[in-house]
Amino acid sequence: MQDCIFCKIVNKEIPADIVYEDDNVLVFKDIKPAAPIHLLLIPKKHISTFFDLQPEDNDIMGRVQRAAATVAGDMGLTERGFRLVSNCMSDAGQVVFHIHYHLLAGRPLQWPPG
Ligand code: AMP
Ligand code: ZN
Repeated sequence: MQDCIFCKIVNKEIPADIVYEDDNVLVFKDIKPAAPIHLLLIPKKHISTFFDLQPEDNDIMGRVQRAAATVAGDMGLTERGFRLVSNCMSDAGQVVFHIHYHLLAGRPLQWPPG
C-alpha cells in the first residue's frame, strides 16, 4: 500500500535490518528498541489492524506467529523465551497501521505492561 512505511520496507524502498524473510513474512529490527532484542514481525500483505483481518488471512497470520518461534529459536531464546505483543488502535498506542507483532527479549519484562 502506498504511504505505508512497512510496505515500503517489504518492497525494499526503504532500508531495514532484516533478520528473517520468506514469501509471506518479514522480520526486522525495531528502529527504536525497547529491549536488547526488539523485532517487528509482519505479514508482507498489507493489513491495517486486527479489525481488518479476513478468514483468508488465517494462514498468513499463523505463519507470522510461527516465524516468531523460528527466529527466537535461532537467537537462542528457547530457554529464556520472549514476549510477542501487538498494539491495536489508539489506546494500545498503534502508530504504524500495517499489522505487526513486537518480539521483545533479552531482559526480564514487566507484567502488566504500562
Ligand atoms: P506500534 O505501531 O506502536 O506498535 O509501533 C510501531 C513500531 O515501529 C515502533 O516500535 C517503531 O519504533 C517502529 N518503526 C517505525 N518505523 C520503523 C522503521 N523504519 N524501521 C524499523 N522500525 C520502525
Ligand atoms: Zn503496509
